Order: sequence, then C-alpha cells, then structure tokens
Amino acid sequence: MDVDTRLAEDWVRAIAAAVEREHERLTELDSAIGDGDHGSNLRRGFTAVLAVLDGPDAPAPDGGPGALLTRTGTTLISKVGGASGPLYGKAFRAIGAALPPGQPPADAAGFGEALAAGLRAVRDLGRAEPGDKTLVDAWTPALEAYRAAVAAGAGLPEAAAAAAGGAERGARDTEPLQARKGRASYLGPRSVGHRDPGAASTALLFRALADITAG
Ligand SMILES: [Mg+2]
Repeated sequence: MDVDTRLAEDWVRAIAAAVEREHERLTELDSAIGDGDHGSNLRRGFTAVLAVLDGPDAPAPDGGPGALLTRTGTTLISKVGGASGPLYGKAFRAIGAALPPGQPPADAAGFGEALAAGLRAVRDLGRAEPGDKTLVDAWTPALEAYRAAVAAGAGLPEAAAAAAGGAERGARDTEPLQARKGRASYLGPRSVGHRDPGAASTALLFRALADITAG
C-alpha cells in the first residue's frame, strides 16, 4: 500500500472525524493545564479543511498527496488560533512538501520520511524537545515505532498501527511530566499529573492513519 492522493484525503477526513468525536475530551485536557481551547480550535480548523476538500477550490488530484496535505496545513494555519494551528499547520505543510508532485506515490519508508519532516517542523517552530510535555512527546515515539516496523519489513498498515500505539503510549507518558513549553509551563509543578492535550491530539492523528490503512 502506497500513499496516493486518495489515501491522503482519507487520512485527513479520518482526523477530522476523530476531532469531531473527541473535541470535548481535548478541551477538557486543555482546561486542566491550558486555556481550554484545544478541542474547539482543532474542530474549527478541520471543519475548514473539510470545507476546502468539498468545495469548488479543492486541491487538484494531479497535485498528488503532497498538494492535499500542504493545503490542509495552510488551512489550519489560517483558521486556527493558539499554538495548535501553526504547529499542526506547519507539520502538514512539511509532510506535503516531502511528497512532491510527479513522484510515484510514497511507500511505507518514504512516508516515514515525510512524517519525520512533520516532526522536524513542529520541533523547529515550538523549539520543543522530547520531555517538554508537548505533542513532540507523542510524535517522537510514533515515528520511532513506525520506523522500527518498516525496518522489520512492515508495510504501511502495520507501520501505521505501530505508530498509533507509540503515539498513544507517548501521550499517556506525558502525564507525570512537568511542562516546559507552552501555556502549561506557567503552571510549573502543577502541570504534573495531567495528559498534554497536544500529545493527545497527535495520538488521534496517528490512530486515524492506522484506521484508514487497516482497511
Ligand atoms: Mg489552548
């Protein structure tokens, strides 16, 4: 299974559905250690993304998966306030840029490189390291698990399932951490004992990829 335009669109739509289902939980997590807008911000962003995909100005299919994912990122940046819009927006733009038009669809290894570009973009923008209690703490173990699966010969579905497990573990493992980045860091030690909302939404993103590739 390769990453073609159809798969990229299925992924984005599955993320939008997950955000719609889980936005209240994300907002609850953000209410505990942030400003309580993470779920509603992402919901607004992915509603706008769906409107683009379903609208007259949808990305042309011959732009490939890269154009679709880049457009997703651009839409998130323009529609979502707070930190999450720029962070996820840059991530999707970086993933899209790693899948240029005119190339054969990426295989599991190639898509792993695109996911790595997404993580680099998030780390560059947020200047976050693993352990800072951010979405980096879900994306990093997701990517590690994905790459380990590919190195062991896995195709996309199995690698995506491994990544989803890694992201969910990583999100859970943010609970004992003290936040060092973002609004939660203002709480100091009081940020301990809560799951990072960004790590939780990153887990949704990788679970969505696993779900749509599982077939
Ligand atoms: Mg917030």
